[in-house]
Amino acid sequence: MNIILLGPPGAGKGTQAKMMIEKYQIPQISTGDMLRAALKERTPLGLKAKEYMDKGALVPDEVVIGLIQERLKEPDCSKGYILDGFPRTVAQAEALDKVLAGLGSKIDHVISIEVDKSDLLKRLTGRRTCRQCGAMYHVIFTPSLNKDLCDKCQGELYQRDDDNEDTVRNRLEVYDAQTFPLIQYYQQKGLVRKIEGVGSIQQIFENIVKTLA
Ligand code: AMP
Repeated sequence: MNIILLGPPGAGKGTQAKMMIEKYQIPQISTGDMLRAALKERTPLGLKAKEYMDKGALVPDEVVIGLIQERLKEPDCSKGYILDGFPRTVAQAEALDKVLAGLGSKIDHVISIEVDKSDLLKRLTGRRTCRQCGAMYHVIFTPSLNKDLCDKCQGELYQRDDDNEDTVRNRLEVYDAQTFPLIQYYQQKGLVRKIEGVGSIQQIFENIVKTLA
């Protein structure tokens, strides 16, 4: 099962991807996570990407396409994968099609998680992530028991640099202009399944599972 999770920042792609990993035993491939890891290691790529990420802009297509091209060759992708945050432009989607054709593979499902724009700002600015295990929380909707610590591993919770209000606004605009057109791109291929991204995390997950059955 090769799956793309589409949706605006804050739609819950990362949260759902983590639940899908367990159910389907396939990896989540998040270009955002890969870029943040590169930045943590202070690699030249990570430091360059930071300039774009801090503004809420997209990192250049060739950078993320290169990352994905290498990642998809890893053995753990042989049974399928969940692409989270890639592709984000039509050029990336076209490049992905070419890479997959070269590997004799294709995308099977595109899940589009839909959330009203008015909810996204609140969701993103309240988001917290565990530095240790990556678990995600929200200060109002899904708080951890102890404000600054992860319930699962006691790791420190942090707010992503790009989850501040100004950057979030820019990320949402970038989504409308550059990523939203992908829904049509994949609709033309008959691959899109729309999922209402509002309600309990579990209910949304069950709807995704039903759609993929
Ligand atoms: P995310 O974690 O998916 O919200 O991504 C965080 C940031 O990383 C984005 O705002 C972009 O600056 C960058 N990024 C992640 N994935 C991509 C992508 N596919 N294309 C371009 N930039 C990306």
